[in-house]
Amino acid sequence: MRTSFIAGNWKMHKTVGEATALAKELVTALAKETCRIMIAPPFTALLEVSKIVKGTNIVLGAQNMAQEVQGAHTGEVSPVMLKDVGVTIVILGHSERRHVYGEKDELINKKVKLALSEGLEVILCVGEKIEERNAGNAEKVVEEQIKNGLKDISPQHMKNITIAYEPVWAIGTGVTATPEDADDMHAFIRKTITALYSPEIAETLIIQYGGSVKPNNAKELMAKANIDGALVGGAALTADQFVPIVQYDK
Ligand code: PEP
Repeated sequence: MRTSFIAGNWKMHKTVGEATALAKELVTALAKETCRIMIAPPFTALLEVSKIVKGTNIVLGAQNMAQEVQGAHTGEVSPVMLKDVGVTIVILGHSERRHVYGEKDELINKKVKLALSEGLEVILCVGEKIEERNAGNAEKVVEEQIKNGLKDISPQHMKNITIAYEPVWAIGTGVTATPEDADDMHAFIRKTITALYSPEIAETLIIQYGGSVKPNNAKELMAKANIDGALVGGAALTADQFVPIVQYDK
């Protein structure tokens, strides 16, 4: 039995004051929930939000990290610095990192390996662009991203990996994959992990869906056998939207 895992990616939104106010609302509203919950504020708000979620059922995530531990990397934030402020999970390979900031599989894999070796968990994002789906290449693209992103990751480390399937055409667009299409891709991801690792690792792997998840579609997405959670962008920015997504089964 996989425990569902709902994560909010706040992207480049919220001042420290706004972030702490939302974190406080969520801590109160979600105190009784038993699923796994993560919020990923911007770097500037991590420390203050960390103080609010400490000791609660909400874990602190980061949206990205550097590929090195320290050094001359102007503008970057290292995994050691993330751990220092209470982060336990990092989102890597988000489509905005891939397609706006040009991150390639090789760099993402380097970051995944470093995060795991530093004791952080990873949400590895994968997903195809609309032209890749229309050309019938969605599975091939996702398979490549998984194989390359997880290159040299040991079976022991797989318990610290979550995969988020986020079709690029569904992110921030209001267009959601149908629950059936999303479930098919999640099943394909599990098959890929079975081939790379083992049926046991594939069976326990948490696979989140991301792409315009809202209160009105979370329940039908989460009802699918292979969808174990959600990575939520826009709807994670207010308690009014994020709380009912976490409570999709109520
Ligand atoms: C995301 O950024 O990971 C995402 C899924 O965004 P949205 O929910 O806004 O589509």
